[in-house]
Amino acid sequence: MIHDDATGDDATDGPAPPIERYDDGIIAIDTLTAGMTDVTAGYLIEAPRPALIECGPALSIEHVIAGLRELGMDPSDLAYLVLTHIHLDHAGGAGDVAAAFPDATVVVSEVGARHLHDPERLNRSAAQVYGTLFDSIYGACTPIEADRIEAVADGDILDLGAGRELELMYTPGHAKHHIGIFDSDSGAIFSGDSVGVKLPGMTSLRPATPPADFHLEAALRSIGRYRERRPERVYLAHYGPVDPPEVALAEADERLRLWASVAEAAYLEALEATGSQPTGTELDHVAETLHRRFRDEVAEALLAEDPDARRRLELLNDTRSNAAGLVRYFQRRDAGTLTDVG
Ligand SMILES: [Zn+2]
Repeated sequence: MIHDDATGDDATDGPAPPIERYDDGIIAIDTLTAGMTDVTAGYLIEAPRPALIECGPALSIEHVIAGLRELGMDPSDLAYLVLTHIHLDHAGGAGDVAAAFPDATVVVSEVGARHLHDPERLNRSAAQVYGTLFDSIYGACTPIEADRIEAVADGDILDLGAGRELELMYTPGHAKHHIGIFDSDSGAIFSGDSVGVKLPGMTSLRPATPPADFHLEAALRSIGRYRERRPERVYLAHYGPVDPPEVALAEADERLRLWASVAEAAYLEALEATGSQPTGTELDHVAETLHRRFRDEVAEALLAEDPDARRRLELLNDTRSNAAGLVRYFQRRDAGTLTDVG
């Protein structure tokens, strides 16, 4: 499907996206999610058996495939597509990448693997969460044959050849099917959404705490595990490397604790006002409170120059969805129905 955007067109492959080369054979391919730049990156790791980390949603996948072709990748060249988790802004185009690169193995946490083979439930719940954005920005994930999927667990290794390995770390919290990827050659971690998001123009990292299974303790533990690895760099899916990594990871920990404590205070305040009976107004109050407290995360100066900056952030990581994930977490915790993960 050809997605309309302003970068010019080629009816068969779609326009190639912006591509940025970093050290150690790491190449960011802008997925042009929603036709906007700097929202979601895929990372190609050059090696005898190359790997693409994240591919973005189905509706803009033609750009990613065009980008891979422009980088000289023939259909038989891609060895792995590694998904940090199965949310559609990361994994929605996986079926299309698998079709375009028939030798590629799709690597995903064992917790989410079955939903890529049979994505009906994944698509249905995404349609609920995203509403009209599902059809206009994300699109449905197409099924991937079971023998093309490698379901992985903590500590599993992908051999890219010539001594380069990717270690897969089970890092739940943002979602229970989240993995981080540690690259032996560069010492970099690809953190998906587990560290948060920081788009160009944002003044700080913003936690990503969406429904349906955000888990605060697990998320903090995952960030702690990244810190123990002392990575040389951290690459966010949204968007790009954050430097220096130890500062970024400390900030991720601190911001997540702060967001959660602000949200919890607002949640308790709302419950108190209604005599401890959840009425559904908690979510509104938490969302408003988070919005008021953290709206300065996008630099005002940048907004004046680039009105798209707020649109990008709201599209990707709006305070209401963060509030919904946190409220659901508090409710499950208080009801004793939280399952510990990780
Ligand atoms: Zn994401």
